[in-house]
Amino acid sequence: MLLEGKKGVIVGVANKRSIAWGIAKSLSREGATLALTCQTEKVKKKVEALVESENLQHSIHICDATNPSQMKESFNKIGEDFGNIDFLTHSIAFAQKEDLDGSFVDTSEDGFDLAMKVSTYTLTSLTRAALPWMKNGGSIIALSYLGAEKVIPGYNVMGVAKAALEASVRYLAFDLGKKNIRVNAISAGPVNTLAARGIAHFTDMLKAAQNRAPLGRNTTIEEVGDTALYLTSELGRGVTGEVIHVDNGLHLLAQ
Ligand code: NAD
Repeated sequence: MLLEGKKGVIVGVANKRSIAWGIAKSLSREGATLALTCQTEKVKKKVEALVESENLQHSIHICDATNPSQMKESFNKIGEDFGNIDFLTHSIAFAQKEDLDGSFVDTSEDGFDLAMKVSTYTLTSLTRAALPWMKNGGSIIALSYLGAEKVIPGYNVMGVAKAALEASVRYLAFDLGKKNIRVNAISAGPVNTLAARGIAHFTDMLKAAQNRAPLGRNTTIEEVGDTALYLTSELGRGVTGEVIHVDNGLHLLAQ
């Protein structure tokens, strides 16, 4: 029970395939109490059914991360219920479909702003919303992808957003170190989720990853979940500002 008595927020469960759900399963298995936040009422209903089907007790809240008043309201509610927040997982991203195909050079200003706002800035704004309740230190995790470091054709604006997300992780780790709050990213290999299906040729990416990864298999949400457990628990107490690859070694290869 690595997280017995620990309480925290996971942002980004949409369904049982979500990476955030893999993280929720690992953290609750080790005794954590969770609040899950969902973008809309529709997603919340699905997540309620998922939580019920697994006989879990997580509280579920609506929070569109681009809506400051909704964010404040949901974090204050969670903070009052919990008394203290020990960890936060940011597992959300969004870009327009037309910006995840073709050439990066064609990205519109609106498409660029939207991808950066939802996928990058929300790490900072969600951290700020959680901060008043993180009174005893803690751990914050964001989800990234190899497209932050290398050109992955089709990933385009999201690669730029993930590069900025990884830089945000380092700046937040610097800022919050004095409060004993650690901030890290997990760079996951391709996983077949709702968000991933928005990327052009995603199934080809998935097949190629399986064939090329040194460990010869694709990443699972459970593998990501257990790395999040390590970073969230005392086991990761010396680690901050890092990007940890959980991709069965895929990042080791040249394109
Ligand atoms: P997913 O579709 O299951 O989760 C994405 C979540 O983002 C959904 O719950 C959606 O409701 C939420 N979201 C989008 N806009 C939001 C907003 N404005 N406010 C609140 N929530 C919002 O897909 P996923 O693949 O599990 O994505 C989770 C994270 O993992 C993302 O950051 C993604 O970029 C990252 N990631 C995914 C892969 C992959 O191959 N699937 C690989 C590496 C990293």
